[in-house]
Amino acid sequence: MNIIDLRSDTVTRPTPDMLQYMFQVPVGDDVFEEDPTINALEIKTATLFGMEAGLFCPSGTMTNQIAIKAQTEPLTEVICDYTAHIYQYEGGGIAFNSAASVYLLHGERGKITPEMVKGAIRPDNIHYPISKLVSIENTSNKGGGTFYTLPEIAGIAAVCQENKLSLHLDGARVFNALTAANELPKAYGQYFNSISVCLSKGLGAPVGSVLVGSKDLIRKARRIRKALGGGMRQAGFLAAAGIYALDHHVARLAQDHACARLLRDTLEKCAYVESVLPVETNIVIFTLAPKVETRVFLQKLKEQGILALDFGPRQIRFVTHLDFTETMAEKTCQVLKNISL
Ligand SMILES: *Cc1c(COP(=O)(O)O)cnc(C)c1O
Repeated sequence: MNIIDLRSDTVTRPTPDMLQYMFQVPVGDDVFEEDPTINALEIKTATLFGMEAGLFCPSGTMTNQIAIKAQTEPLTEVICDYTAHIYQYEGGGIAFNSAASVYLLHGERGKITPEMVKGAIRPDNIHYPISKLVSIENTSNKGGGTFYTLPEIAGIAAVCQENKLSLHLDGARVFNALTAANELPKAYGQYFNSISVCLSKGLGAPVGSVLVGSKDLIRKARRIRKALGGGMRQAGFLAAAGIYALDHHVARLAQDHACARLLRDTLEKCAYVESVLPVETNIVIFTLAPKVETRVFLQKLKEQGILALDFGPRQIRFVTHLDFTETMAEKTCQVLKNISL
């Protein structure tokens, strides 16, 4: 049986064309900054987002944590939503790497507002940490794929500029956000000091994230990456997958969003589903009816070859991606309709 894996958009395998492309790129020692393919990916990503420079890292956790380390110091504070990946799902990395404090906001489905940021800024008083960095997530993972539009980002950026705070973007799914908002990445550079762009989520590369920012910030980031043990050598073969993904896998994200809406439409009609969160991009989060056991539901799906994620009390998450075809979407809808609980 062909497994249909809806647990995350990280489960994709490189396509045959991507693999072919990876095999034939030139590589070199990137710690000497001599890997032409990594250099090309870094410049390509930076240029796309209207930034000066980029740094290729093994994971989005590393690009986020380096951005935080480079823009904070002990006794300072990071402001973010309480659902933020940098706070919830990076192993306590902010405390470990940066010894910085965190001010948690309670946004709407992972999204914060300029007013919330304003209210979180500390007065100049030695009792408080020094407000330093604001971090937002686009799309918001825990928020169920909600996205910020450029005007919303501009509002938060204005508060940061007025108060001399840096602004970081966790862009694990930034291309999903841009697709849904029908916007181009170029404008992001003027609002953010740093952006983490994941290549291994919706874009389908096997590994990697790129941190983009000013030349000065990226020079500092390169030093931190080295200290974390993230300086890689002939990793251009991996960077090639990222270049291929940026060239070929961005335009198709709209299909993932359409498949997510198909799943939502079916789920809304299922008696065993209590509610489905609005679907904005490629994430579908739904709540099972009170008498339905999550474990039993997931087991029934699994028996039909479908994998999904337990996402909290009676909550289930589906994420659509490159390896989830329209045929699989139809089959999944069929299975959902026929499940008896
Ligand atoms: C996946 C993800 C990351 C980075 O995860 P890695 O597995 O370290 O690449 C960062 N932020 C968000 C919102 C994510 O979903």
